[in-house]
Amino acid sequence: MQCPLCHTIDIGKIGTNRYYCWHCLMEICLVSRRETKMFYVEPDGSLVPVAVEQKSS
Ligand SMILES: [Zn+2]
Repeated sequence: MQCPLCHTIDIGKIGTNRYYCWHCLMEICLVSRRETKMFYVEPDGSLVPVAVEQKSS
């Protein structure tokens, strides 16, 4: 598992199919094997969807 944005492997698992990147400060949700969604976490804990270009590789 890598961060789709910065490609670090230094991400923490926070739940089923959910990860957190300490570099981007973003939550990563694994929608399927090839699709991820990223969210910016607001200080109050709400999630803001972030559009990330998916690489087909
Ligand atoms: Zn990242």
